[in-house]
Amino acid sequence: MKRKLEGQIAIVTGASSGIGAGCSKELAKAGATVVVNYPIAQTREMAEKVVEEIVADGGRAISYQCDVSKEEDVKRMFADTIGQFGTVDILVNNAGLQKDAPFTEMTLDQWNFVLGVNLTGQFLCAREAIKEFLRRIRREVSCAAGKIICMSSVHEVIPWAGHANYAASKGGVMLMMKTIAQEFAPKMIRINSIAPGAIATPINHDAWDTQSHLQELLKLIPQKRVGQVEDIGKAAVWLASDDSDYVNGTTLFVDGGMTLYPGFEDNG
Ligand code: NAD
Repeated sequence: MKRKLEGQIAIVTGASSGIGAGCSKELAKAGATVVVNYPIAQTREMAEKVVEEIVADGGRAISYQCDVSKEEDVKRMFADTIGQFGTVDILVNNAGLQKDAPFTEMTLDQWNFVLGVNLTGQFLCAREAIKEFLRRIRREVSCAAGKIICMSSVHEVIPWAGHANYAASKGGVMLMMKTIAQEFAPKMIRINSIAPGAIATPINHDAWDTQSHLQELLKLIPQKRVGQVEDIGKAAVWLASDDSDYVNGTTLFVDGGMTLYPGFEDNG
């Protein structure tokens, strides 16, 4: 049976760890050739390990260094990918980070750094991807001319004290995603977001590393388990595949119910 993403080329940003690595592996299992992006030389080894795992599993992948907050880097990553593989069909706009601080102590550098990667990085990559989708129109591998999946967060809707830069970046991702989905739907381009809840990755290690931290975290999750990167990877495959062909401009919350106001569970 033909795999759902057979013959398609995917770029996954921030893919040397966590959710990006998980999405890369699931997309490769579904048949995509994956560009495993990493930002700096120190993360190359981790990205290459992701590639090795994909290849050992019978998939196709390469690693590629690019800082998504830098315009020239992003242009080069897309140009090289198109040069090597012919085109790009799927972008998973995943790279993201936190620099937390109480609001009155937050420096402009902390604000700009988080917005630069989490929001401007998604803008730069989406723009290059869409230019390529428009250049070649539709290919026989998919109903769509191209698909973009933006990695947002439950914090696109849940305010988060002490993380104003992060929450603002994810709120920004939500309206950028919806706006460009509206702009390019007539061109058969589908753009959606995934909003993860708490997924066990390096970004939130402190939230689940001890029993007491874990118990506190689980109070926020009606399903009473921390998510795994595979939970997000499988959602990404669905959003990238023709199974979701009529889904456009929406956020898929993959959060074990975190957005269901768990404080009201026994307090109605
Ligand atoms: P992570 O720290 O493992 O992954 C983030 C990745 O982004 C890293 O591999 C890092 O090297 C990369 N990165 C950072 N700056 C970059 C840059 N300038 N250019 C390219 N890559 C860069 O954490 P994660 O949890 O896997 O986070 C992935 C995405 O998921 C982020 O956008 C994050 O906001 C989002 N998210 C995570 C959770 C969670 O619970 N883990 C929840 C909601 C949203």
